[in-house]
Amino acid sequence: MVTKKQYEAVIGLEVHAELATRSKMFCSCEVVDSTSAEPNIAVCPVCAGMPGVLPVVNQAAVELGVRVALALDCEIAPVSIFARKNYFYPDLPKGYQISQYEQPLAQNGRLVIKTSQGEKVIRIRRVHLEEDTGKLTHINQNGQSYSLVDLNRAGVPLLEIVSEPDLGSAEEVRAYAMTLRNVLRYCEVNSGDLQKGVLRIEPNVSVKEAGCKELGTRTEIKNLNSFRALERSVAYEIERQIQLLQKGEKVLQETLGWDDILGVTVTQRSKEEAHDYRYFPEPDLPPLVLDKEWIEEIRRNLPELPIYRQRRFQWQYGLSDYDAEVLTEERSVADYFEEVLRIAPELSPKVVANWISGELFGLFNQAGTGFSPNRLAAAALAELLQELEKGTVNQASAKVILSEMIQSGKRAAELIQAMGLMQVSDAEIIQGWVIEVCEANPLQIDAYLKGKETISQWLFGQVMRKAGGKANPHIVRVLLEKYLHGLKDDQQA
Ligand code: ADP
Ligand code: MG
Ligand code: ZN
Repeated sequence: MVTKKQYEAVIGLEVHAELATRSKMFCSCEVVDSTSAEPNIAVCPVCAGMPGVLPVVNQAAVELGVRVALALDCEIAPVSIFARKNYFYPDLPKGYQISQYEQPLAQNGRLVIKTSQGEKVIRIRRVHLEEDTGKLTHINQNGQSYSLVDLNRAGVPLLEIVSEPDLGSAEEVRAYAMTLRNVLRYCEVNSGDLQKGVLRIEPNVSVKEAGCKELGTRTEIKNLNSFRALERSVAYEIERQIQLLQKGEKVLQETLGWDDILGVTVTQRSKEEAHDYRYFPEPDLPPLVLDKEWIEEIRRNLPELPIYRQRRFQWQYGLSDYDAEVLTEERSVADYFEEVLRIAPELSPKVVANWISGELFGLFNQAGTGFSPNRLAAAALAELLQELEKGTVNQASAKVILSEMIQSGKRAAELIQAMGLMQVSDAEIIQGWVIEVCEANPLQIDAYLKGKETISQWLFGQVMRKAGGKANPHIVRVLLEKYLHGLKDDQQA
């Protein structure tokens, strides 16, 4: 009998992030939204590749690149070199892309990711600066086929972040990509929107026999526009390669696309080698020399990164791992949470966390806006939670008021009055409601007395209803239980 061989997946990621600068990488053209702007409105002789023009490096792009490289714990090269990567394609008017090759901006970094198996360190091989290409739109109409070129994107600053092949599963690939996206967003590099193409993630996938030192032949998957597509395509590709090897066939080194509908990878082209690009140092640009002091200044101004902020939220506020993660995924949410607690330090962090990640996320989701703190100031939420804490309103009413606050922009105290949602805690009034409800439902009371204890929950609901939802639920529960026990005692007597 032949035992089946065990295989391991090995994956490394190449990520391209557009740098959200005002102007392009080597000219002063504005960076416009390439998915919505009118084509070719932000183009000049430099980014259109006219002969005789000279590129000039955009300092803001270098700064963003250094910021990311530092956030990824890289060593920044004091001197890096721009290089020409030559290839011919209609979206590349110069016939070459200015990139960095032998001496990149930064190397040897790391990114900590969280997986179901715990934390894992993924090594970053290099981070380098380059420029984006234009965009082609292929038209097939009335028996004619042609392509339209839009050069708005040509020359937009790009940062390429290349990992070592340290990832071992589709799940890890997704975790790495999302963690990296969050770091980029914290660094204010771009929106992280895969659909818009401001972040492009290309996995290199290979498999090898378990325990074997040597890496297998890899394929590279391009044009993935969601994290789901990323994860699915990697899972599919791992399985496809394992099956090839099990049949004794070979994996071809090639560039693949992903068909999201069929759920399969498809051949695009055979893989090009570095020598195909005839890299050489860009003669029109001097070496990029970075001042040590400037780098240190950027380091000092780095934001607290998601993973550190998450850990701090756990020990400082006593939040669970999960709550801390949900709150720190986005910088604006984490800032908001801390702002509420700064304004109302007496509130329980856990309560604030629950209101933000539960109610507030839910309401913003319904509105389809995503988290938008401008629609509800942190001070406004703090005020509502203070009213809840004081017992002016109960939990259920507070939820109604929160929604109304977002709709109307009015403050909690004002809405509590206007909507008549002051909590009723007066025992006499509540006792009256309890008696009314119990007397109006003799059949249920009878069932309760015959041993159907769950009826008390139903009666509780009826009393709350009678109270228009405004009664203090704790007092209702106490008085109702007391009343029911009284009936039981009478029955036994
Ligand atoms: P290029 O794709 O431009 O040739 P590299 O050879 O440096 O660049 O590799 C690009 C990416 O592919 C890196 O993220 C690297 O970790 C990954 N990689 C390289 N070899 C393999 C392999 N055998 N299996 C999986 N990933 C690999
Ligand atoms: Mg590659
Ligand atoms: Zn230009």
